[in-house]
Amino acid sequence: MRIDKLLSNIGYGSRKEVKKILKNGQVTVNGNIVKDAKFHVDPIVDSVYLFGEKVQYREFIYLMMNKPAGVISATEDDRDETVIDLLNDEEAVFSPFPVGRLDKDTEGLLLLTNDGKLAHQLLSPKKKVPKKYFAVINSPVTEDDVAAFGKGVTLDDGYETKPGKLTILKSGEYSDIELTITEGKFHQVKRMFEAVGKKVVYLKRISMGPLLLDDTLENGQYRELTEEEVLQLK
Ligand code: URA
Repeated sequence: MRIDKLLSNIGYGSRKEVKKILKNGQVTVNGNIVKDAKFHVDPIVDSVYLFGEKVQYREFIYLMMNKPAGVISATEDDRDETVIDLLNDEEAVFSPFPVGRLDKDTEGLLLLTNDGKLAHQLLSPKKKVPKKYFAVINSPVTEDDVAAFGKGVTLDDGYETKPGKLTILKSGEYSDIELTITEGKFHQVKRMFEAVGKKVVYLKRISMGPLLLDDTLENGQYRELTEEEVLQLK
C-alpha cells in the first residue's frame, strides 16, 4: 500500500496533508526517511515511524453508536444529517458505513464499520442475527399479541414474518415491550404492531447478535468496539 494512503487512512490527515509531512522528512520506514508519497509499504511487516512514534496500522474500524432520533442511518443525504456526520475526522477517515438501517425516528444501537465482510454476514438473512428492540406502544399489549408474534404475523404487503419474541414489560394505555426479531424488513417492528392494530410510538434497538448497546452512551455518542466485542461478532 502507498505510504500516503496508509497514513491518511489511519487518520494523519488528507493525502495532501500527508504528502507535506512526508516532504518534511518526518516519516521513516525501516529506519530510512521516506519522502516519496508513492513509496510502497507493507503495513504488517514494515516498521513505520511518524514524528518519531511508531505507526500502528489497522485496516478496520468498528464503532457502536447510540443513534439519536432525527438522524439518517446512511452515509450521505441531501437534506438530513447522517450518522456519519456525527463522527469525528479520526473515525470518518476510515470511511465506515452503517450496518443495516434504523428509521430516522428510531434510536439505539447502530454498528458502523468499514469491514464489508462482517457487515455482509450480520445482514445476511441466512444468518438470522437476532435484533432486540425496546418499544413503547400506544395501547395495551396482550398475551394474544405475544402468541401472534410467536407464530409470525402478516404484514401489510402480505409478507409472513418469522416468529418474534415479544416480552411485555408494562401493559397499559401506553405499553413498554421488548421484541426480538431475526429479520430486517423495512419498518419491520412498526409494521408487526400495525398487523395487530397497534402503533409504535417510540423505538430503540438495544442489541444485535451478541452486541449490547452500551448504556453509558448518550444519544449521538459512539465508541469503538472492544476486541472482545469484535471477536464475538465474527
Ligand atoms: N423496525 C422498525 O420499524 N424500524 C426500525 O428502525 C427498525 C426496526
